Order: sequence, then C-alpha cells, then structure tokens
Amino acid sequence: MKKISLMGATGSIGTQTLDVIREHPEEFRLTAMSVGKNIEEARKMITEFNPRLVSVQRKEDAETLSREFPSSVKVLHGDEGLVEVACHQDADILVNAVLGSVGLYPTLQAIEAGKTIAIANKETLVTAGHLVMEAARAKGTSLLPVDSEHSAIFQALQGEREKNIEKLIITASGGSFRDRTREELVGVTVHEALNHPNWSMGAKITIDSASMMNKGLEVIEAHWLFDIPYDRIDVVQHRESIIHSMIQFHDSSVMAQLGTPDMRVPIQYALTYPDRLQRPGKRLDLVEIGKLHFEKMDLDRFRCLAFAYEAGRIGGSMTTVLNAANEASVALFLDNKISFLDIETYIEKAMNAHQVIHRPDLETIHEIDLETRRLVSGWV
Ligand code: NDP
Ligand code: MG
Repeated sequence: MKKISLMGATGSIGTQTLDVIREHPEEFRLTAMSVGKNIEEARKMITEFNPRLVSVQRKEDAETLSREFPSSVKVLHGDEGLVEVACHQDADILVNAVLGSVGLYPTLQAIEAGKTIAIANKETLVTAGHLVMEAARAKGTSLLPVDSEHSAIFQALQGEREKNIEKLIITASGGSFRDRTREELVGVTVHEALNHPNWSMGAKITIDSASMMNKGLEVIEAHWLFDIPYDRIDVVQHRESIIHSMIQFHDSSVMAQLGTPDMRVPIQYALTYPDRLQRPGKRLDLVEIGKLHFEKMDLDRFRCLAFAYEAGRIGGSMTTVLNAANEASVALFLDNKISFLDIETYIEKAMNAHQVIHRPDLETIHEIDLETRRLVSGWV
C-alpha cells in the first residue's frame, strides 16, 4: 500500500490522480491533499478518500471545513498548509499537481524531507530548475516525471544510461491553433483557445498549448530532468499525440513511447515505478489510427517556443522571467484583459527588460517572479 500526498487535488491532473487511486484501492491510499479555492469539490474528496490532512488556499475556507469535519481531518491553509501537505510524514510519495511557481517552495521542502516526488508542476522546474535538481541530487531524491512527454522519455530510458542519449525529440500536438497562420490569430477568443484537439487539461496549460509555450516550458523541464543541453532537445509537431516523445541514442536507434492520450497513464506510471499496474480502458489500435504525421516546428509562427529556447540558453534568472511573464499574461488573457498575441508580446518585453542574474537563490527568484508579474500587470 503506497500512501499518497497530493497537491492540487481539484485540478485536471489532481482529479485524474484521484481516478488512479480510486481504480486501485488495494495499492494506493490518499493521506494528504491540497486544493486552492474549490471547497465544493474538496468536501466531496474528503468524504470519499478520508485523508488525514487537507490544506486550502484561504483561511475562511479552512475554518469552514474544520467545522464540517471536526475530528477526522486536520485542515490547514495558505503557504504553510501547502508545505505541510508536501512534507506529510505519513506519505510515501508526493504528487505535485499544483499550478504555477507557487509549487516551488513546497517542492524544495519536500525534497528536504526526503520525499519521492511525482512532478506535474512544470513551472517549478522552469522557474528554478537548478535549485530543485541540486537539492534532489544532494538528498538523493527521485523526481518522477508526470508530464506525458517526460514520462515517455523516462520510460524509454529504462535500462539505458543518460550518457547514451544523442538527443531528445519532444512531440507537440500543435494545440488549438495549429492550422492557423499568425494573421489568423488576431482576435481569437478565450473559448477558441480552450478547445484543444487531443487533450482535456486545465485552462492555463491549454492556453500554453495554443501559444506553444507549453512545449517551451517542456523543453526547459526536459533540460533539467534529464541534464541535456538545449542544442540536443528537438521539438517535432505530431498532431495525433500518439508518440509521446522519443530518445535518439548515439548508435542512431530511436526509442519512443506510444499510447492513447490519457494523462492517467503517466500519472500511474509515476506512482507504480518501476512496476506497472493494470489499467482499465481502451488500448492503442494502430490499425484504426492508420497514419501518424510529423511536421517541422515553425519557430517564427510559434514565437513562445523560440523565447523558451532563448531563455533556457541564457539561463540564470531568465527562465524565471519567462515563466512569470507567461503566467501573468495567460491569466490576463483568460480574464479577457489582453489579446492572445499580447501574451507573446508581453513575454518578449519582460525578457528584454530583464538584467539576468546567474545562479539566483530562492529569495532572488521569488523577488524576480513578483516583480515580473507586477511589470506585466502595469502594461495593461
Ligand atoms: P488546473 O488549473 O486544472 O489545477 C490546478 C490545481 O492547483 C487546482 O487544484 C487548484 O486549486 C490548485 N491551485 C492553483 N493555484 C493555487 C494556489 N495559489 N495555491 C494552492 N493551490 C492552487 O491545472 P492542471 O491540473 O491542468 O495542471 C497542473 C500542473 O500540471 C501544471 O503545472 C501543468 O502544467 C501540469 N500538467 C498538466 C497536464 C494536464 O493534462 N492538465 C499535463 C502535463 C502537465 P482550485 O482549483 O481548488 O482553486
Ligand atoms: Mg506535456
């Protein structure tokens, strides 16, 4: 029986993690969870899974839940609550499925506490990959990828050595606007951007997929997780999302991982690694699919991907700026305050305005993150 602590239980990855736990009651038990503001769902989850610890974003919500679930569950709130969930002593593994760089500090604390971490929260690796990886190395902590591309690479790497890798080939579905020209992106609505062809995901990552920033964040995530320079990470457009990513080895062999697009597969693999468990549901039918397509990524068309490579290569605090400017602009777009193309304009402006700091510490990263968000808000 593996005991699981889950950050971001009410999100898209969070609820799919709960699906996996629900499907395997003999294998997994939810021992702690955090939510943001969705108290309605939290209530149902507490009733169903009976975790020992719950954390919510707001104090008033914590008080409400404490009244409703008097003795059975400890309810905390805010940043401290999130850290308690991340480090819960009873948990064997932490699933970090929170959204955004708010996940950084709890992740570092969980590493310090010696937790194995299944990480979906890519913004944490983008904003401070050096701090996370150094801490994990020092503590001997395993960071198990949940993101489907990184899970694919991780699966293809089993029995291999990182030194055998020539390059990583990350696949991209192309997102909601893959068949539109730049001109056709002028004036697109939030509703159109949220309509992803292959994956059902949270709002922010769906917008990131449409702008191709999601792939940019994933390139940086892969750089940190697999310790590979940016020149050896390629992105190829693959509209079916069947091949989740590939490794090309020095002897020219390419290993790929395939599957129907279902995040529960990589979530479950992170929870069962190095074993595998039965999964219900549809199997991949390649005859039914018939054809797989691959296209070159156009970096002029998808400027956010070019910005991510640039920020990654510059390194230091530049990826913190990239991430914070993106988080802030996507929130503004979702709020109908700016246009879709403003997202990339704001990211570019924020990066141009930044004096890079090499090897920033946690405090510096926190300050730059806040400062970048303030800067972007000021442009509206
Ligand atoms: P969602 O927006 O669906 O969920 C985010 C979760 O984080 C919710 O539980 C939300 O709480 C919580 N949350 C948000 N802000 C805060 C905060 N300030 N403090 C505490 N909790 C907070 O996101 P996704 O599940 O789509 O994505 C989560 C992470 O996983 C992201 O980093 C994303 O890039 C990554 N990922 C997602 C994939 C997907 O298929 N969705 C695929 C691969 C990676 P509440 O809703 O209660 O307010
Ligand atoms: Mg992904």
